Amino acid sequence: MKLVMLGTTGYHPNDLRDTACYMLPEVGVVLDAGTGMQRLRRHLATDELDIFLSHAHLDHVVGLTFLLGALYDKSMRRVTVHGEAEKLAAVREHLFHPTLFPVAPEFEMRPLTGPVTIAGGGKVTYFPVEHPGGGVGYRIDWPERSLAYVTDTTAGPDARYVEQIRGVDLLLHECNFSDDVPSDFVQKTGHSQTTPVATLARAAGVKRLVLTHLDSAINEVDPVGLATAQRIFPNTELADDGKTIEF
Ligand SMILES: [Zn+2]
Ligand SMILES: [Zn+2]
Repeated sequence: MKLVMLGTTGYHPNDLRDTACYMLPEVGVVLDAGTGMQRLRRHLATDELDIFLSHAHLDHVVGLTFLLGALYDKSMRRVTVHGEAEKLAAVREHLFHPTLFPVAPEFEMRPLTGPVTIAGGGKVTYFPVEHPGGGVGYRIDWPERSLAYVTDTTAGPDARYVEQIRGVDLLLHECNFSDDVPSDFVQKTGHSQTTPVATLARAAGVKRLVLTHLDSAINEVDPVGLATAQRIFPNTELADDGKTIEF
């Protein structure tokens, strides 16, 4: 299955990266809706879309407003935005307030109340993660493969969600900061740094780790120290805008 990285930084876009947005084109699934949504149209391969939001911070939702253009002229049968009820309500009330964005794209919002079945026989489950304002991580299991997406939280080998991601084929995990950033700032902002993410991947027995939501303040291909992660968890790579991963 293909995973296309549409946006791989957080907070704000920079010269190299848009903000959080990932797509599984074959099954019409999108994970988060940051500014990377501007790349969705060229990868669209289905007439149904399921968009899953981790939380409602702007770098993860502003791209919902881009759907008007991204889906223009495409005859979509259904577009569903999934997320925690209070996050969806905030998006509806604030992001799509007529003063901010008067022409709402056509989609339905469906609060998370349990596992969600997606195309290709996949089952999406979710679990809480710690972050200012709260958020969820996702795990998708198909008969043949599995994926976990965890962003905007502070990783470590004793993270509460280690069992939820255990053994997945691909862990897409945020790594906003390198090990050089003081850990109290990392904690305060609710993000992760390189060594704890790699240690978590090892503790959870995942098969492959992709680091994303990479520090937007650093306009470099590797803002977080890939080699540091690989010393702990060798099968680690960096997410890049436009990159496609097969898993
Ligand atoms: Zn973020
Ligand atoms: Zn956030």
